[in-house]
Order: sequence, then C-alpha cells, then structure tokens
Amino acid sequence: MADQRDELRVAVIGAGPAGLYAADALLGMEDRQEISVDVVDRLPTPFGLVRYGVAPDHVSIRSVRDTLDRILDHPRIRFFGGVHVDDGTQGVSLDEFRNAYDAVFLTYGASADRPLSIPGEELPGSISATEFVRWYTGHPDSPPEEFTDVLERTRSVAVIGVGNVAVDVARILAKNHAELQHTDMPDHVLAALVGSSVEMIHLIGRRGPAEAAWTTKELRELAELADASVRVDPVDVQHGPSSQAVISSNKVAARNTAVIEDWAHQEERDSARIIRLRFFSRPVRIEGDDTGVRALVVERTALTESGGVEGTGQFVTIPVDLVIRSVGYRGLELPGVPFDAARAVIPNDAGRVLGPHGPIPGLYTAGWIKRGPSGIIGTNKKDAVETVKAFLDDLDHGRVPGRRDDEDLFARLPDPVVDTQGWRRIDSAERRLGALADKDRTTIHDWDTAMELGARSG
Ligand code: NAP
Repeated sequence: MADQRDELRVAVIGAGPAGLYAADALLGMEDRQEISVDVVDRLPTPFGLVRYGVAPDHVSIRSVRDTLDRILDHPRIRFFGGVHVDDGTQGVSLDEFRNAYDAVFLTYGASADRPLSIPGEELPGSISATEFVRWYTGHPDSPPEEFTDVLERTRSVAVIGVGNVAVDVARILAKNHAELQHTDMPDHVLAALVGSSVEMIHLIGRRGPAEAAWTTKELRELAELADASVRVDPVDVQHGPSSQAVISSNKVAARNTAVIEDWAHQEERDSARIIRLRFFSRPVRIEGDDTGVRALVVERTALTESGGVEGTGQFVTIPVDLVIRSVGYRGLELPGVPFDAARAVIPNDAGRVLGPHGPIPGLYTAGWIKRGPSGIIGTNKKDAVETVKAFLDDLDHGRVPGRRDDEDLFARLPDPVVDTQGWRRIDSAERRLGALADKDRTTIHDWDTAMELGARSG
C-alpha cells in the first residue's frame, strides 16, 4: 500500500485555485510523510480562472495569483503546463497518471458554458460569456480578432443572466480607456474595447432584484463608471410576497434590492453608455439571420409562490446587435472518469471520486468539477482541504493502493512541456511587456509565444 513507501507521489490535474490549494494542503502533511506533488495543466500557464476568469480590472482579486504562485516555490512541487489529459490518443491518459502516482486529484474546473436552449442561440452575434471572458483575459484558445469587428458595429448588447459574470461583462463593456489601460488585458483587447460602438447594455434577469445571483460590492461598481449610468424601471422594484420573504431572510438580497431601488428612483443622467437592468424578463428567442443578431425577445414573468418563474404572455422585443448569455459555467467529462451529466460534476463523497461500486481508490476531486460552478476563489481552499482530509483518512486506513510504476512520468514525456522555470520565464516576459506600457504586466495570449518562452524539450 502507498503508506509503506518512502515518498508519496500525487498528481493534480488542473492548476487553478482548487488544484493549487489542494497541492498546498498536501505539502502541509510533509511532517508525517515525505510527499511530492506534480500539478499539470492543459494551458502553458498556471492559475486557471484567476488568470482567465477574474476580470482584468479586478486587480485585487487577480492578485490572489501571487499567493498561488508562492505555492509553486515549494521544493517538492512541480508545475507542468501544456499537458493535455485525454484518453491517451493525443495526450496523456488518466491510466498513465494512475500508474505513476499514488493518488490523482482532478481539479480541472468547469470550462464550458450552459446553453439557454432558445431559438436563434446559434446565430452569429449570439455568444457565451465564457467565450467573451476568455477573449478579454487573453486566453490562448481565443483568437485575438474574435470580437474586434463585432464590437465596432455593436450599439446595443443584451447580457442574459444577473450573476457576477454578467456584471463583469457589462462593466468591461462600459469602461473607457482610462479605466482599462492599466489592466493586464492584451493590447488587441484594449484596442477593441476602446474602439467599440456600444451605447446600451441590457442586463436581463428572469426573476426579480431580490433573486439576482450577484454580490452587492460587484453590483455597486456598475454605478461607479466614468462614462456609463445605470437605469432601472421602477415597476421592476415592486416586490411580491416571495421576494419580500427572500429580502427578510437573506442579507445579500436585502442589500442588493436596496441598491437597485435607489437606482430605480434616481434622476436619469446623460452618459455615453447606459446599463439597463431588466428584471422579470425571460429570454424566449433571438432574432436575426446569418449576418447577425437583430433582437432579443423576452417574455415578462411573474414569480410563483416558491420563487420560480411563470410567463405572463406579454412579450417585449429588445433591439440588440449582440447577445451574451451569462447563465453559468458547465464542467466537462474526462475520459475514464465517472460523470454526473445532469449536474455536470464528478460524483464524489467529500472529494473521493465515486464509481458504480463506491469510492475509486486513489482518485479524488476538488473545486468546480467537484461541486459545480459556485462560490468565490477562497471557497476552493476549504473545498480542497476537505478532499485532502479524505485522502489522509484513506491513507491512514490503507485505502490508497499506491503507484504501479516508479518511473517519473515527466522524464519520459516526448512533447515539450512548460515547467516551473518555464512559467517563471513567461511571467518575467509578461512583466517586461507591461512595463513598456507603464503597467504591472500584459498577458501573453498566444500559445506559440508562451510555449516558445516556457517549454523545455522532454
Ligand atoms: P451564477 O452566479 O450562477 O449566475 C447565473 C445567472 O444566470 C443567474 O442570474 C441565473 O438566474 C441566470 N440564469 C440561469 N439560467 C437561466 C436561463 N435559462 N434564463 C435566464 N437566466 C438564467 O453564475 P456566474 O455569474 O457564471 O458565476 C459563477 C460563480 O463565479 C458564482 O459563484 C459567482 O459569484 C462567481 N464569480 C464571482 C466573481 C466575483 O466575486 N467578483 C466574479 C465572477 C464570478 P436564476 O437565479 O433565475 O437561475
């Protein structure tokens, strides 16, 4: 069994917050047993959604990466970027990891988006927030020019969903050059946003202000923008009995509704851009043709007693050139790993991956692929610690089977990968690039450039 060996070897698949917090907690058990942790990622760079999800203008949240980066300084952790884990046809299979490590932690997050399943969703000009966020954070899978033309000709945008991602997207679309120039977004993104023709941003919620998923700090930021103002229809802040109950029992909902009520009753001011919050509006159809989107049709809704929505039969057509659906992320299945398709998570018990006959020995999960796309970055720390505790308990009870092969998987991998030193080279290059524009860093968005800077030949 694994606990009889000199050194435990653990692989962590996914170098975002959940993976790095899990690695940190694993390294914390050094006093009881020698351990080494290899953290791998498909991308050349670590930090997952801290790099490619948190909005570039949220500088203090993005600074979490400094904390995560310090974890990589530990002498018994190695980072390997540019490592694709699949069924073994193109990348490295899970079985190869399971042979070479005593335990494998799956922490690869939720990288896809949830569909709306309404007619017209597939039209050009109807996109997911996931795609848009990837583009403005400089994700290497996102073509640089992806939204340049679209933003140049777009005057009116509908952002569907009233969570924190929708607020991020609306705020980034509404900010001016001075508000964006010191962020780490790539130059092509800054140029496209500054050159955009956007004048109207509709934020569309199918329920009311009390039921919105955003947090108050993020919501308030919408009213702090230099060239944009917020508008709310007073009819949307008349709360029914089920919303009243939410407001009385939920402090965040109470704070959010107070902010939105204020906005609904304030005097309208002129501004270059307007952010219009529209509640009780359920998207039913996107209109347009193969040249683009023309309108979003919503049905006015009413809340049921339990807080659900029902249609009122009253439809409103909102002229828009771009629809961005921001209704949540979705996890993807990894070949060879059990998957709960309905919840888009890996079935687990406190982080132990569950197969048809119970926990699969040596296989663990943490983060969004364990619990779904919810919570703030810090939530992943608690979540990862829970999984590491389950692992320690299994170790104590002889339930970790141990590796079959003592060879170092990364010593024999043929393809070039980015190791920790390689990541440090990418990091330095980003800082140098940023310094040219008088900012901390500029994200290098291009795969080939990142691989050239970071890769060592295997
Ligand atoms: P989210 O918080 O789950 O919000 C999803 C929104 O989409 C909800 O308003 C939901 O409304 C709506 N929605 C879902 N299905 C819909 C449909 N069919 N039609 C219309 N609306 C629909 O998801 P998210 O915004 O993607 O955020 C994911 C997580 O990351 C959250 O925990 C969030 O707080 C976190 N995050 C945090 C920050 C930050 O702290 N600054 C920034 C970004 C993200 P219903 O409630 O009616 O379903």
